Amino acid sequence: MIEVKALKKSYHSISVLRDVTFSVARGEFFGIIGPNGSGKSTLLKMISGVIPPDSGDILLGEKSIRSYSRKDLARQLAVLEQEALPPVGFRVREVLEMGRFPYQNWLGEETEDPTALIDEIIRMLGLVELEERTLDQLSGGEKQRVALGKSLVQKPKLLLLDEPTTYLDIGYQIQLMDIVRSWQKHTQVTVVAVLHDLNLASLYCDRILMLHKGNQVRVGDPREILQSSLIEQVYGTRPIVMEHPIHQLPQIFLQSGS
Ligand code: ADP
Ligand code: MG
Repeated sequence: MIEVKALKKSYHSISVLRDVTFSVARGEFFGIIGPNGSGKSTLLKMISGVIPPDSGDILLGEKSIRSYSRKDLARQLAVLEQEALPPVGFRVREVLEMGRFPYQNWLGEETEDPTALIDEIIRMLGLVELEERTLDQLSGGEKQRVALGKSLVQKPKLLLLDEPTTYLDIGYQIQLMDIVRSWQKHTQVTVVAVLHDLNLASLYCDRILMLHKGNQVRVGDPREILQSSLIEQVYGTRPIVMEHPIHQLPQIFLQSGS
């Protein structure tokens, strides 16, 4: 689905990404982790075509991302970023309708009626009771589900998420990740998610890319990435890593300084 080749990026001659090379298979749940400032959001913005790389290339399907028009790209991929929502005056259903922009002509009309799709997504996100509320009448967790809904009505083949669970409590974190995963099973969408919670990354990702100061440290499954020595090398703190008793996946335990 995606092939990232020898990507490089600098801002004002300060290098923020160097030689990043990996591929993501169709239908995969792919995570990107790394400390603050390691270049995760920059990488995601390049995959979504918002900023161009200095060198290297990104193939989406068979074609370079540079050869897509804005609208073509918006039919291929959707991005859930922080503060992704429009101003507070809009109602939940209106926000989801905005997600249909790649399929509308300049009059805002579509050839296919998206009502059934929007209804389905509102139901799946548990927003039925809230659909006539305005955004300022929602909690943080509810707003984040609306933002996800706006991305899903775009019917992307690729869903890009930048720290989608930041500011959510544990219940909403799991709820959001479960919704993404069940939508993925339903539609075969490919997911690339920047996650700062290593334990969530382990539970949901098929494979993980670890970045450190703009360098690609390793790409692998959660067992290959969540190793205490590697985490210490990258994050500067050594956790204890143990297997989750039910999911049989690595989970980290932080150690406080003595
Ligand atoms: P992360 O998402 O991993 O925290 P970012 O991709 O946001 O990291 O940033 C990587 C580095 O690039 C940081 O040092 C950041 O300050 C810098 N950076 C990001 N965006 C810009 C920009 N528009 N102009 C200059 N520097 C930037
Ligand atoms: Mg970021």
